[in-house]
Amino acid sequence: MIPAQFDYVAPTTVEEALAALAQHGDDAKIMAGGQSLLPVLRMRLNAPEMVIDLGRIDSLRGVRDDGDAIVIGAMTQHAVIATDPLVEEHALLLHKAVQHLADSQIRHRGTFGGALAHADPAGDMGAPALALGASFVIAGSGGTRTVSADDFFVDLFETAIGEDEILTEVRVPKHTGWGAHYEKFVRVAHQWPIVAVAATVRAEGGTITEARVGLTNMGSTPLRARGVEEALAGQPATVDAVRAASERATDGTNPPSDLNGDADYRRHLAGVLTRRAVLAAAGA
Ligand SMILES: Cc1cc2nc3c(=O)[nH]c(=O)nc-3n(C[C@H](O)[C@H](O)[C@H](O)COP(=O)(O)OP(=O)(O)OC[C@H]3O[C@@H](n4cnc5c(N)ncnc54)[C@H](O)[C@@H]3O)c2cc1C
Repeated sequence: MIPAQFDYVAPTTVEEALAALAQHGDDAKIMAGGQSLLPVLRMRLNAPEMVIDLGRIDSLRGVRDDGDAIVIGAMTQHAVIATDPLVEEHALLLHKAVQHLADSQIRHRGTFGGALAHADPAGDMGAPALALGASFVIAGSGGTRTVSADDFFVDLFETAIGEDEILTEVRVPKHTGWGAHYEKFVRVAHQWPIVAVAATVRAEGGTITEARVGLTNMGSTPLRARGVEEALAGQPATVDAVRAASERATDGTNPPSDLNGDADYRRHLAGVLTRRAVLAAAGA
């Protein structure tokens, strides 16, 4: 279907983009890579009068080192994250997870910030960002504010970003030397996960000293599997210990039922995929 008619601007600074948002209010929509927005417009699920394209704002692109964190610009494409050496060294979980996101064409257009702002509970970037304790820098007319990962994802397709605000960058605390794995279960290749598990683990001498685990598509937002994390701390990185801890993967979850699988099936998957992800992350 062809989208409803809209006007289009492509500002070159965040300030200009914010001014356009303020001018058009509810009638405007931000566009990053357009990989989720354009399908929505084509299905006429939304019909903004103004589309504000962030594609010409160079300051929103790239990955930089900022001491104890790496900082990823909101407009950094998935394909850049997949090959960036800072991401691979300090946030291996993101490096691993992004390889599973859609196909190469979409990874070249779609952006890290766009995927997080879209907040699809089946999106592949939310659980790794949550597990790594990322924080989100959001710009508005009154300046910038920073929101923690725990507060960023509010509900299905809803985040802490206000209607008049723009996500500018994501700060990811360094997890240098941590093992990581993203285990994604799909029916067909290049699709959103039915369930996926993001695990990053610090292990010393065969013992898991700390684990951080995020769940994709086990509720209306990405979730931390805190029960698993607690159960893993101080345990040997063995199949039996990780299997026992993974039984807590469904604590606090509320998985959906749909044509790809019902809630019970997703609960089963969460336990199996957590075991696989943690064992792989621990190198066991
Ligand atoms: C066929 C297909 C398969 C896909 N498969 C997967 C998959 O397997 N896993 C997966 O995770 N994703 C998948 N995607 C989605 C892909 O990851 C998109 O890149 C992503 O969801 C949106 O990123 P984008 O940059 O294209 O954002 P856009 O589509 O441009 O924007 C998405 C939403 O976020 C808002 N937004 C964007 N940037 C900002 C910002 N900086 N500040 C405030 N609001 C903003 C927009 O207004 C819009 O509402 C797939 C998409 C397609 C078309």
